[in-house]
Amino acid sequence: MSSAADTVFTRIVRGEIPAQVVYEDEAVLAFLDISPLAPGHTLLIPKQAYATMADAPAETAAALGAALPRLVRAVQAATGAAGVNILQNNGRSAGQEVNHIHFHIIPRVEKDGLGYRWNPGSYASGEAEAMQARVVAALRA
Ligand code: AMP
Repeated sequence: MSSAADTVFTRIVRGEIPAQVVYEDEAVLAFLDISPLAPGHTLLIPKQAYATMADAPAETAAALGAALPRLVRAVQAATGAAGVNILQNNGRSAGQEVNHIHFHIIPRVEKDGLGYRWNPGSYASGEAEAMQARVVAALRA
């Protein structure tokens, strides 16, 4: 497992640059996104830097997962949002700009104009089974 290089988030963890911190424990830190998609847009990061979820030890993933529900409830309570998107980008092709794992917690209300629509595809006959076999094999490797 590889640690990420220094990023703006490692500098926030070290207290070198300011952030609106809303939650902290020994393993994770949550703070307001500096360019919010909606008021209350919050980022949850591990204090230890890993670039993507593929790099994260299970304990790091567990600490993030443990903090998420409470943080989602707090963001919803604070903003009055009816819903929340949790977004987590891994890699440049997936839109990741900061190479330090982070979950976006984005408060949503009806007709907020943010939108959220990807174009779903479909599998031709036999393709789903072949893909299933490839992922299962990768998990066993
Ligand atoms: P991503 O595209 O998933 O890597 O998202 C990176 C996020 O980090 C963006 O939403 C940025 O607005 C946010 N961001 C970048 N610098 C800061 C900062 N100094 N404080 C808070 N959020 C930041």
